[in-house]
Amino acid sequence: MAILKILQYPDEKLHTVAAPVGQVTDKIRTLINDMAETMYAAPGIGLAATQVDVHERVIVIDTSEARNDLLVLINPEIMASNGISDYEEGCLSVPGIYGKVQRAESVTIRALNAQGESFVLDADGLLAVCIQHEMDHLAGKVFIEYWSRLKQVRTLAKLKKKQRSTM
Ligand SMILES: [Zn+2]
Repeated sequence: MAILKILQYPDEKLHTVAAPVGQVTDKIRTLINDMAETMYAAPGIGLAATQVDVHERVIVIDTSEARNDLLVLINPEIMASNGISDYEEGCLSVPGIYGKVQRAESVTIRALNAQGESFVLDADGLLAVCIQHEMDHLAGKVFIEYWSRLKQVRTLAKLKKKQRSTM
């Protein structure tokens, strides 16, 4: 296993649209293991392949308190969504920035697991929000892009200042 480098906003590569995984091979399983290790080490509750500069539809999530309940989503699709919630979100690609995004309160998704088997999952609360946030990454979208233009400009200035001071 290896810890992968996480792309930092505003890296243009975060806007790449990920391609569907054709077959769940050992190469994909290695990617999943590396992504899980990277997410746990960060620490974060979700990571999309896009964020480690691999543009295939793979997501790892763990919203459990004990950090021992890894959820792997390959080629995820939202089949149904309901309600509205606005959780305060953060992102490993936008460190130190938090803010609300309006999303569905619950979602039903279909995806493949690490063995390449199809499954359906009903999620609500934090897990539902996390799934939608990570699926946005696969579509090339970062959560702060839901915000007003002004708020995005301010956020970018804050990030640049921070990046300078840590160099
Ligand atoms: Zn993110």
